[in-house]
Amino acid sequence: MIELLQLRKEFPTKHGTVTALDGLTLEVPDAAIHGIVGPSGAGKSTLIRCLTLLERPTAGAVRIDGVDLTALPERELRQQRRRIGMVFQHVNLFDSRTAGANVAYPLRVAGLSKTKAKARAAELLEMVGLADRAGAYPAQLSGGQQQRVGIARALASSPSVLLCDEPSSALDWSTTRHLLEVIKNVSTTLGLTVLIITHEMAVVRQVCDSVSLLAKGRIVQSGPIGEVVADYGSQLSRDLIPLAAAPVGETRAQVEVSFSSADFSIQEVLRLLADLPDQVAIEAGTLETLAGHRVGRFSLHGQPEALKPAIARLREAGLYVTAISAAEKAEAAADSAAEVRSEAELEPGAAAQPGADTQLGADAEGGAPATPETEGEAGDQDAERHRATKASEEE
Ligand code: ADP
Repeated sequence: MIELLQLRKEFPTKHGTVTALDGLTLEVPDAAIHGIVGPSGAGKSTLIRCLTLLERPTAGAVRIDGVDLTALPERELRQQRRRIGMVFQHVNLFDSRTAGANVAYPLRVAGLSKTKAKARAAELLEMVGLADRAGAYPAQLSGGQQQRVGIARALASSPSVLLCDEPSSALDWSTTRHLLEVIKNVSTTLGLTVLIITHEMAVVRQVCDSVSLLAKGRIVQSGPIGEVVADYGSQLSRDLIPLAAAPVGETRAQVEVSFSSADFSIQEVLRLLADLPDQVAIEAGTLETLAGHRVGRFSLHGQPEALKPAIARLREAGLYVTAISAAEKAEAAADSAAEVRSEAELEPGAAAQPGADTQLGADAEGGAPATPETEGEAGDQDAERHRATKASEEE
């Protein structure tokens, strides 16, 4: 298990203090795979370095299997670091050693006999699907195979945690898929807790049980995939169920309809969409299985007078419908900030995390839309944001 408690890292610079990690708290349970995503500069690399204590956090704690690494003297820390396997974007294998010898190397350094190290390396290579390539040199292996040798090497010290820093960034998608399958397999087989830092949402979709969005050193959204997806208006939900971009210069009002098979039968949603009048066009759509549910998002466009009754009908059926124009997004962000502020005023200490979308929580409780029905007057590019009404009846 990985636990971060109020983890903070500041870098003093001549222009002042840079806060790279601003109080991260996170728990990744045993054998779970957790993704960390976030824009450049969010603090991802600093987090990886602080997790291994290659960089000492300014404050807070890093616990691996209950042991607080920040409290350990250097010698014990070196021992505990063996619980953490690392996989990087660039594998850095010894070119002059075979795959088998590369994996055996850390075992030899740890004092294992040549025979035992070789046998263990063979087992590890088998685990990553490279049993037949133990005698190959790195130059004779593809990028994906080299990365798998890197995973086998990381597993040599029998870690309980595997940290993967952009492990697939240099690989094409089919190789990435294979690599992620290997990571999933070793996690399941060995009960490994895995943290994957990635900029690819496809990685999160394929392999992660849960995900955190990091921005400016803070976790702005975090949770099991099913939960973050169901927060349809949130950044992570949008990133996990993305829609094709609207054509440049599009001026008609646009809305998004989001749903999950947890709440609706997909056939029913498709029937509702098919029954919309011809003046409402379905512009883009996506439907896929995430966290055991089929989740989807469609974007609709049309003139406000056609969209308005369509929105009302979809909402009446309990679907989450929201406008997606730039002006509307700004308004939603302002609303959200106001909600956070008023929550904080009402209940000091209970403010939502910055950036967290409070919409769904309100939707789930309430039922009726809480915002005025003003999309008609909002004009072409400014359709009104709406709250979804959650279906009260399960399919
Ligand atoms: P990411 O990996 O998400 O791109 P980083 O962890 O590299 O983000 O950086 C987070 C922030 O910390 C950035 O603003 C970066 O400029 C700053 N930072 C990282 N390392 C240092 C350092 N050694 N000295 C000063 N600032 C740093």
